[in-house]
Formats: sequence, structure tokens, C-alpha cells
Amino acid sequence: MHDHRRLGREMGLFDTDPLIGAGLPYWLPDGATVRHTLEEYIRATERRAGYQHVYSPVLGKRELYEISGHWAHYSDDMFPPMDLGGEQVVLRPSLCPHHAVIFRSRSRSYRELPLRMAELGGMYRSELSGVLGGLTRVRAIQLNDAHVFCTLGQVAEEAQAALEMIRRSYAALGITSTRYRLSLPGSGGKYVAAPEKWQRSTALLTDVLDRSGLPYEAAGGEAAFYGPKIDVQVTDRAGRESTLSTVQVDFHQPEQFDLHYIGADGAKHRPVMIHRSIIGSVERAVAHLIEQHGGAFPAWLAPIQLAVLPVSDTELPDAAALARRCADLGLRAQVAGPDRGSLGARVRQARLIPYQAVIGAREAADGHVALRLRDGRRLAPRPVSDVLTRISALIGAHSTDLWADTAS
Ligand SMILES: [Zn+2]
Repeated sequence: MHDHRRLGREMGLFDTDPLIGAGLPYWLPDGATVRHTLEEYIRATERRAGYQHVYSPVLGKRELYEISGHWAHYSDDMFPPMDLGGEQVVLRPSLCPHHAVIFRSRSRSYRELPLRMAELGGMYRSELSGVLGGLTRVRAIQLNDAHVFCTLGQVAEEAQAALEMIRRSYAALGITSTRYRLSLPGSGGKYVAAPEKWQRSTALLTDVLDRSGLPYEAAGGEAAFYGPKIDVQVTDRAGRESTLSTVQVDFHQPEQFDLHYIGADGAKHRPVMIHRSIIGSVERAVAHLIEQHGGAFPAWLAPIQLAVLPVSDTELPDAAALARRCADLGLRAQVAGPDRGSLGARVRQARLIPYQAVIGAREAADGHVALRLRDGRRLAPRPVSDVLTRISALIGAHSTDLWADTAS
């Protein structure tokens, strides 16, 4: 079984240190490469879908979370406030309040809606140390978050589009969703008391799910405190289910922050807020990807994409030249020369690397490489430029295929 903590350490992706603290992992260079590549993929996907990115601070005044409702409904998961010159500031438990404040920072017209505001930003959760470990239960979280401010009539289409973004991203990441869950409130005082708002938002999400044709189950006690959610559930290799992606409808925070836009009629109207996340927290997503793929990431996400393996020292200059060509193309290549052992040993060491380019005397003389794929396929020697063009195309398309064989 693949445990992301063990694999993550073996692969040099991340680690923790008691001196930094439990639940506060740091990312090593190869892990940082994976994280950066994943974050940039998400940002590019969002830009194409019309989202605009913002940055907002990871701290806020206590009052901000009192208004949003986090203080009343979510403070068990929040860090205690810090006293600072007569006021209290808190590490934020979510990004929504900041985005609501950014929305109302100036007058908004109905023509600006749907206004899609995205941020990959830090947030904090006071997990108890007993449940901490690896990347799945952390105290510092990098969240792929976005809020769509829209009219009531735009909610269904925006929620549907968010589900479609999730589906496409899962295909690129090689993630299989286990099930879709309509997460509803349970009993108890965890949820804001506004029965009419809950009914309206639940009806909207139910409609989105019904029209999408996706099979789903409703579950009580799983909603956000401010509204119901569509949660996309995934299962790890140990059979534990968790939520990666989510789409939520919220009538509560727009009212709390007194958000409005000027309608075509010249009057003020209240927007609806859709909270949506494609991959959830970066930490949990990477943990899931490590386990799902056993460390063999899709080529576009792999920390090293191409291992360059010269058969003998004589081909070292050719190997170095190939690695430079890769770098120029934005491909991540690494030379493993004979000082690292026999060719067979180096092939085994590179078992998680999608492509292994072997260069012997004949390949060097012809300007060819003999390519081995991670899945065991071995291709006949072919020109370097042909190999790099094909690999670049597959990686650029975020394909999970290692090779598109048209004529080999
Ligand atoms: Zn939110």
C-alpha cells in the first residue's frame, strides 16, 4: 500500500520537523516543483474560465470573522486571537470574508456579474496534534479557493461550470472521483438559522446535480455552516473517503457583509456567493496524488520528467546537451551518468520518472535516443528532436498518456 508520508519522504517531496511544529510540513525542491506546477495548472484553468486572481492577507481582525459567522459557528477550528495594540487579529480560517470585502470595495454593476474571484491562499486550522501527520491533517493550508458573485438566475450555470472544471481537472490529474455528495446540515447549533435560505440553496444544488446526470447521495451533517455543498469525494488506497472538491451556494455571507450590485433597473440587489474549489487544499490534493499514483505522477506534474542515461562516460557530453535542450523547452530533465551505477541500476532508480532517454555510442553518433517509458515500453531509437516534440506536446496538453503512438 502507498502511504503518502513514506513515499513523500522517500521521493524527497516534503518533510516535517518537530522544531517547526506538528502539522506544519515544509516542501523540498521536488515537492515544491510538483506544488508549483499544480498551482499554475489551476490558475491557468481558472484564467481560461474567466476567473480573476487576487491576493489577500492570511490575518484579519476578529470582527471580520464575527461578521462572516465563523466566530460563532467555526471558532473551535480557529487559532486563538492575538492581541495587537488594543485590537485582536486572527489567522484566517477561510478566504471568503476577505473576498466579500474585496467585492464591496467599490460599486458593482450587474454587467460585472458573474464576478469570479480566485485565490490560492493560506488559511489555518487548529487541528489537535493527535490527528496530525503528513499532508492530510495540517494546520497551515494552501487553499485553491474561488468565489463567484452572481445573480440568482446565474447560480445554476456557474455551479454547473464549476463541476465541469472539476471533471476536466480530474482527467488531467488522473484522479477518479468516488461519488458526489449533496452535503446538508444536521442537527445542532453549528449552522446559521435561516430555514428559507437553506431551502432555496438546497433546491438550487439539487437541480444542478439532477440536470448534470451525475449520481449522488445526500448526507446530513456535512454542510458548511452557511449553506449546503456539492462535495466531490475521493477514496485513498486504504479505503478512507475524503472531500477534495466542492461547490457551495451561500445566501448568508452576502447578507452579513451587506453586498450589493446595481441592477439594470438602477436599484440595489443582493448577489449570491458560490464558493468553489477544484482541488481543495494543495496539501490534501498532493497527498492524494502521491497515493493514487504510487509516486508516478502524470508526466506534466512529475518533478523530473526525463532521466537522461548515457551508456558510458563517452556519451556524457551528449547527455548534457540533451538536458540543456530539455531545459530550453521547459522540460525537467536530469542526467544520471555511469557514476550512479550500471545502466540497469539507473533504469531502476528512475522507475518513477516518466521518460528515460538512453544514449549509447550509436545513438550519440546519429543524434538519436532510445526511449524507455515508465510503464515498461521500449521504443526504437529515434531523432532527439522528434522525441522532444512529442513529449512536449503531451505535457503541454496535460495528458496522462506517456506516448501517443501514430507511427513508431
Ligand atoms: Zn468561501
